[in-house]
Amino acid sequence: MIEDIYTIEVPFRGTYRLQRLRFGQGGPRLVVVGGLHGNELNSVYALNLLAGALRAQAPVGTVDLIPMANAFGIEEGNKLGPFDDQDLNQCFPGDADGTAMQRVAHALFQASCADVCVDLHSGSILVEELPQVRLSTHGDGHELARSLGLPLVWRRQPRPGNRNQLVDCWRAAGCTAFRITGGRGASLDKRVGASVADSLRRLMGAMGMSRPPAPNPVLADVTDERMVALRCGTGGFFVPEVAVAERVEAGNLLGRIVAPVGGATLEEVRAPCSGMVVTSRLYPMVHAQELLLRLVVLDGG
Ligand SMILES: [Zn+2]
Repeated sequence: MIEDIYTIEVPFRGTYRLQRLRFGQGGPRLVVVGGLHGNELNSVYALNLLAGALRAQAPVGTVDLIPMANAFGIEEGNKLGPFDDQDLNQCFPGDADGTAMQRVAHALFQASCADVCVDLHSGSILVEELPQVRLSTHGDGHELARSLGLPLVWRRQPRPGNRNQLVDCWRAAGCTAFRITGGRGASLDKRVGASVADSLRRLMGAMGMSRPPAPNPVLADVTDERMVALRCGTGGFFVPEVAVAERVEAGNLLGRIVAPVGGATLEEVRAPCSGMVVTSRLYPMVHAQELLLRLVVLDGG
């Protein structure tokens, strides 16, 4: 059943609708939100796949899907909310009397606190991310996060700048909360969408809500200390020599920064340690100190 949980009349293009698909009833309750960032669309596809599975087999308990939180941003490929150029994921827990995006955030937050809450993203439009689940080192849910069977489980220290993000507000309200990301913004990666949908069905299995698909191995389960960010020393045109999910050894050439005109090599990017590529810059024009790659140090690495 599709229902409007909040609407705003907009003077120039009809009604903004915050829509929810509900499956089942009673507890436990799982809520999955997608499309907070309007240019991250793998979540929309993943939640449509999951909705298809839930239509075929109703869950034990309740599954609520909110696939297009920033619907107008999605319509125009805008990460931010076109009402007021605010990042919806910096507006939580929201304000019923605030700006348009703060009111949307308030309604979404009120409708989404559940036993387990998941917020879906893609990489930015500049990078590709290996499908991964991120959770706080200060929260619970580590075993549930592993049950997703995504290649990477990243337990992160709380970041002060994330205080108004949905996942942090869910956690502050006592919910078990995860953020899943994968693929690249402003595009659809069907494989990533399918793997996220399958991971959510595994999560439902671990919560006793349905029969899960086959398990999938977690390749890396790490904290911040095992994540190595590589940034460029100089600006230029980044030509990668590796891709997401590739294993590398210390000293391997990972890419080059070359002159945009003429192609002279300005900088070689080499692996400081062995590991697996989990983030890769795909948009090639870079400025000094921008993120090029993230490596995860594997067990025994
Ligand atoms: Zn995002």
